[in-house]
Amino acid sequence: MSDTTRVLSDGRRASEQEIQRAAPSRSLAPVVVSVTAGSPAAEVGVLAGDEIVRINGEVPRDIIEWQMAADEADVELDVSRGGLDLAFSVEKRAGEPLGVDVSSAVFDRVRTCDNHCEFCFIYQLPKGMRRSLYLKDDDYRLSFLYGNFTTLTRFTEADLERVITERLSPLHVSIHATDPDVRSQMLKNQRGAMSLRWLRALLDHDIAVRGQIVVCPGVNDGTVLADTMAGILDRFPELDSVAVVPLGISKFNGEAAMRFHTTEEAQAVVDIVADWQDVFEATLGKRMVYAADEYYLMAQRPFPPAERYDGFPMHEDGIGMARTFEAEFQGRTADATGVRRGFFAAVDAPPNPAAYTGLRTSTPCASDVADASASISLRPRRTAPIGILTGELGAPVISPLVDSIDRDDVRVIAVRNEFFGGNTGVTGLMTGEDVSRTLAAQPEGHRYLLPDVCLSDEGRFLDGLTIGDLPRVVEIIETDGIALRAALEPA
Ligand code: SF4
Repeated sequence: MSDTTRVLSDGRRASEQEIQRAAPSRSLAPVVVSVTAGSPAAEVGVLAGDEIVRINGEVPRDIIEWQMAADEADVELDVSRGGLDLAFSVEKRAGEPLGVDVSSAVFDRVRTCDNHCEFCFIYQLPKGMRRSLYLKDDDYRLSFLYGNFTTLTRFTEADLERVITERLSPLHVSIHATDPDVRSQMLKNQRGAMSLRWLRALLDHDIAVRGQIVVCPGVNDGTVLADTMAGILDRFPELDSVAVVPLGISKFNGEAAMRFHTTEEAQAVVDIVADWQDVFEATLGKRMVYAADEYYLMAQRPFPPAERYDGFPMHEDGIGMARTFEAEFQGRTADATGVRRGFFAAVDAPPNPAAYTGLRTSTPCASDVADASASISLRPRRTAPIGILTGELGAPVISPLVDSIDRDDVRVIAVRNEFFGGNTGVTGLMTGEDVSRTLAAQPEGHRYLLPDVCLSDEGRFLDGLTIGDLPRVVEIIETDGIALRAALEPA
């Protein structure tokens, strides 16, 4: 591993090894965290706390292998319980749920990233947060399971074989630039120059891949971005879609070259994307590339009409959410467009199959996501005035919708992100500290609506606080327009 050092949020320099040592190591065997009552596993006596040593004679490396083995008709489990070795034979139908939730997604250690991107948000985290948040992963399995983006710099022939054999599709790949020199410079990794060959190999084997370009002004915008579009058309036309997103800058950024976009730079990105959408559509029959909603806000341009998002293939990555939210809020669609991932979903997700994008078969309901509100009993009256909490980038999206319903008892409350500072105005990065400070200045007795995207599945904000730490009672709602509209309806 390289001995590159980074400037940390407290001004110290730390080596890459030190940073990753601070991140958590993963358990090497899955541990049963819950057993569904009446399930095949419960019938034979599997208990929460059991450590799975083998399933069907094999040591599972991750939840993917676990799920495949658990789906078989008859399942043999070797478990360790308090130092005792036990064996269970479970008879069930193929595909019938085993009834066991296990403790993590990857059992043989997450493959960590050995890039050193100057724009990496993990380097811009303040110290003292949950250790899991400092984990820099570059693991194709987390790409499949959670939609994390991988640079493929640590991808191997064996990985390719497994992806193809097990059809781990779709995957999510960080492109950033197709020019090998620019890409390796951005990743600060020589292998970044060549690792897109794996993207070619994945596409050759019909693995669906969604791409991402994080744009850093002065680095890969302008002509470099246009060249990257041409490179995608030339070398990777089978990509499903490509998200163009701005870099995130927190107040802990220690890299002088990394900065916000100016309005003109954001406008230039929007223009390049629009121009290339036309080229892709004319040559490939699909628009392929989409700019993040943040770009239209930064560029002070209207969001593209909904039909230009082609079904919102990258909704989970912040592409087109303003338009879907609007359609949902205005009742023009019966269902929410898709599951939204909170920031760092991969490190905080519970052992619930619905949390795994790649294994998911249905949309989790609100009760799966956060039940922390269930213990709140002193709720304000349903008819009380309503404050909708949202990030500073969410406010300009929601405010016009609220204005349109002409309700003087409903207001939008933008939560300024002072915890991270910088340009971190997205709702998913709201912290308990900031929400708390904002609510403290608001009157008591009002209803306060909090979108679930800023909470982990355990009901924690990124800074570890829970809604129980807030100075006002809040109602957690799903982060979509249908949920907001329902919450605003009279009792
Ligand atoms: S590849 Fe991702 S995790 Fe790794 S340094 Fe770059 S931004 Fe950070």
